[in-house]
Amino acid sequence: MTEYTVVHGAAQLVRNRDGGLDAVSDAAVAVENGRVAAAGPTDDVVRAYPTENAAAAVDAGGKTVLPGFVDPHTHAVFAGDRADEFTAKLRGKTYQEIAAEGGGILRTVRAVREASRETLVRNLLSHLDEMLAHGTTTAEVKSGYGLSIDAETKLLEAIREADQRHSIDLVPTFMGAHAVPEGWETDDYVDHVIEAQLPAVADRGLAEFCDVFCEAGIFSVDQSRRVLAAGRDHGLTPKIHAEEFERIGGAELAAELGAASADHLLQATPADAQALAGADVVPVLLPGTAFALDADYADPEQFAGAGAEVAIATDFNPNCFSQSMEFAVDLACHGMRMAPESAVRAATVGAAAAIDRPDGPGRLREGAPGDLVIADVPDYEHVPYNFGVSTVETVLKAGEVVYDAR
Ligand SMILES: [Zn+2]
Repeated sequence: MTEYTVVHGAAQLVRNRDGGLDAVSDAAVAVENGRVAAAGPTDDVVRAYPTENAAAAVDAGGKTVLPGFVDPHTHAVFAGDRADEFTAKLRGKTYQEIAAEGGGILRTVRAVREASRETLVRNLLSHLDEMLAHGTTTAEVKSGYGLSIDAETKLLEAIREADQRHSIDLVPTFMGAHAVPEGWETDDYVDHVIEAQLPAVADRGLAEFCDVFCEAGIFSVDQSRRVLAAGRDHGLTPKIHAEEFERIGGAELAAELGAASADHLLQATPADAQALAGADVVPVLLPGTAFALDADYADPEQFAGAGAEVAIATDFNPNCFSQSMEFAVDLACHGMRMAPESAVRAATVGAAAAIDRPDGPGRLREGAPGDLVIADVPDYEHVPYNFGVSTVETVLKAGEVVYDAR
């Protein structure tokens, strides 16, 4: 028998099964070769994987073991500081007014263009440390603060390097169509994304997904369709920022293109929810963004009721500065009124579906990655119940302890 790790004596183990959460009392997990070899009642697991023969045995007595969180929507690689915009917003300025004065996304673009790749990697690694401390073991990261061939590839290369250096698995998304850079007409810039940026990114295998900010005044549905279809021709799976400030048809476009996910969806209608569910597009809801913008929350019930597997994410970016999936789970419950069961599932199984990993992370069952969190609470309900603090105590990635606050 090869070396294995056993986490034993958990008060509760959340495994996740098809269609629901599956919580087992007095449970254990064995991880062998980076994958879950057994997960269930302690007696069953330690009979096959005795703790005394384990390379590492972790006592989770009285605590809860959950799958590592998957964060399926972040803009975590950037440079510069926009805390002053936060204060300006509290004094009454809107996101749009700040952008019109040279703030917002284009301010971060200027900082990214000036930053070295090393700086971007260093910044990202420090954010990943924070994500890990709050239980994230897999995260999607978008480019989109470069908006030129050189700066977009620099961002994606920084993501690749950080992925190699950090224990969190990173999923790279190209988002050249995040904003229109200064000095460009939108249509000309869309051509540039399609004809120059996309081939440069795809030729070097730097991204898995292609995303676009489909929004009134940013990229229209037609422009978004052109970008995502071109991305798909280059082998990149579509994702879309849709129906955040205004409903313009981004959710319908996601369904039409068979996107992996449609994200934000604050203004989505019941018909949009039906279209997404029917096309197997995962609705990714971002409660932190609504919280940061003081906007209304999306309605998870609308999507769950239509039969969709709902995901939640942090949307970590300079305008929504939280790296914590724990906080996203807290807000999903306190803000969007999700049941703890649904919020935990949305942060694990749902989130994995949003990055096309339906049988990978987010579950603790045989064959799944040995990515798990030990939370210092008696059951998963206490994770969002106890908000504003971290309940995450230990994180294992592929069966190895990679974070330990004990
Ligand atoms: Zn976003």
